[in-house]
Amino acid sequence: MDSLKDIYRSAVSLLKGMKVTAINAARRPVTLQYPDERPVLPTGYRGIPALLSDEGGKARCTACGICARTCPLGVIKIDSELGPDKKRILKDYSLEASRCMVCNLCVEACPFDSLVMAKDFELADYDPDRLVYHKDRLLEFGRPYKHGNPFYKEPDPKPAAKAGTPTTGGEPA
Ligand code: SF4
Ligand code: SF4
Repeated sequence: MDSLKDIYRSAVSLLKGMKVTAINAARRPVTLQYPDERPVLPTGYRGIPALLSDEGGKARCTACGICARTCPLGVIKIDSELGPDKKRILKDYSLEASRCMVCNLCVEACPFDSLVMAKDFELADYDPDRLVYHKDRLLEFGRPYKHGNPFYKEPDPKPAAKAGTPTTGGEPA
C-alpha cells in the first residue's frame, strides 16, 4: 500500500515539474547575449561616482571635502588650494574605484550637486592602479548628466498669464 502511495506522489511531483517547465518554455528568455546585446540600464542604476561640470565644462566641486569625510571606505581624496579670493580651488579629485561599493552616500552628502552615480560599469582592469580615477576622467564619466539625483525633473515653465489676468493678485482695474 505504501509503495502505491509513493508511486502516486512521484507521479504528481513529476507532473508538477513538467507543468513548470512547460510554462517557462513558452516565455521569452530574460538573459542577454552580452556583450553583443547591451542591457538597457534603468534610471537610478549606480555604476561609478563621477564629477558633474558647469556649462563651461569646469568641475562644480568646491573642494569642501564633505564627500570624502562621508565615504565609509575612505576611497575619495581631494587636493585643493586657496585661490586669491580665499576660496578653495579643486586641484585633483581621486577615487579608488576598485574599493568603491557604489553606496551613493557621497552623492547624497554633496551639498553642491557636484557628484552623480554614472552608469558606467565595464571598468575591469588587471592593474588596480589604473582603477584610481582622477579629476579629468571623473569629469568625463559625469558629462552625460546634469544632476546628482537621477529622478530630478526640471520644473514646468509657468503657464503664460492670460490677457487681462492680474499677475499679483487683486481685482483687475
Ligand atoms: S559610492 Fe560609497 S564607497 Fe563609493 S566613493 Fe561614494 S561613499 Fe565611497
Ligand atoms: S561634497 Fe561635493 S562639493 Fe564637496 S568636495 Fe565632495 S564633490 Fe566637491
